[in-house]
Amino acid sequence: MARITATIKPVHADHTVCTHKVTTTGKPKEAACPGRAAYTATCSACPWTKTSTTKAALEYVRDSHLRSHLTKPAPTRAV
Ligand SMILES: [Zn+2]
Ligand SMILES: [Zn+2]
Repeated sequence: MARITATIKPVHADHTVCTHKVTTTGKPKEAACPGRAAYTATCSACPWTKTSTTKAALEYVRDSHLRSHLTKPAPTRAV
């Protein structure tokens, strides 16, 4: 069984994923990039997604979501 992960990706103001290069201060290096506005996390095991303007806040909710998979395993058919 694959390990459940939730990937955090930077997104633009229109919620498209930013794959551009940015400087260490977060400024876009490429002219095509409108700038990063937020971060979004998506779960590999369920349709859960969450967006936050700060990465630290998103890591927190990401971790608590992953913990919910540990305490509540994939639903099994009731006997
Ligand atoms: Zn970008
Ligand atoms: Zn999930």
